[in-house]
Amino acid sequence: MRDLSTDTSLLSLNTATVKQQWNLEQMIDGCVRHRIGAISPWRDQVEACGLGEAAARIRDAGLRVSGLCRGGMFPAADAAGLQANIDDNRRAIDEAVTLGAECLVLVVGGLPEGSRDIARAREQVFDGMSAILEHARSNQMPLAIEPLHPMYAAERACVNTMQQALDICDRLGDGTGVALDVYHVWWDPDLEAQIARAGQQGQLLAYHVCDWLIPTRDLLLDRGMMGDGVIELKKIRGWVEAAGYDGCCEVEIFSSLDWWKKDPDDVLATCVERHQNVV
Ligand code: ZN
Repeated sequence: MRDLSTDTSLLSLNTATVKQQWNLEQMIDGCVRHRIGAISPWRDQVEACGLGEAAARIRDAGLRVSGLCRGGMFPAADAAGLQANIDDNRRAIDEAVTLGAECLVLVVGGLPEGSRDIARAREQVFDGMSAILEHARSNQMPLAIEPLHPMYAAERACVNTMQQALDICDRLGDGTGVALDVYHVWWDPDLEAQIARAGQQGQLLAYHVCDWLIPTRDLLLDRGMMGDGVIELKKIRGWVEAAGYDGCCEVEIFSSLDWWKKDPDDVLATCVERHQNVV
């Protein structure tokens, strides 16, 4: 396992972690102040900054871009809706390329409004990814499916386990893989085996960390800081690195009740400390 005890270069800031108080420019500056080596911005923040400006600022700051959040959200009520979502994902690929991102993270989408057909939604995810795959490949932009915890299956992502995500990747082939977020998959009894499987195919594209709090007070916005919950972070990172992953550890914390209220500089300092001691 890599020694992170003095590292900051492999730490990536997923900008959701400080999005309540900072814009993208402030996030980039914050990474520089705390010697954080990478950033993973969200598209709305990039758009607010301006794509060219965001890319230049990130490049000038010397930051890696461990991923762009996010593409996906494919399922739609009709063919026109699916096509619109496909078109938006093509734009997301272009944005990821401009930013120099290491992958485009896909939160694949849940049920279209009024639908109860989750199998159909899953097929639309496959169809949508198939439709953008050549564009992604020709731009050397890997597509990283992020399986989400099953509690989000209806509204955000109908792909909910590593196995399910990897089965899709195997059907699609080169240029696809997974973004493993411990929050979503820590509970999975098959996690170790699926990580090993992903490693054999070079399909581990990103690694997201936070923690699972007891109790969890909000299904979306109560993620914990690493070390404050019940996820065996070092064990999972050990599996991931044994499978060949050598990328960043990306901190992604949605926390309206706690971390979003704190001084963002204190949040980043805590991220660094936990990255070195807990992750
Ligand atoms: Zn994530």
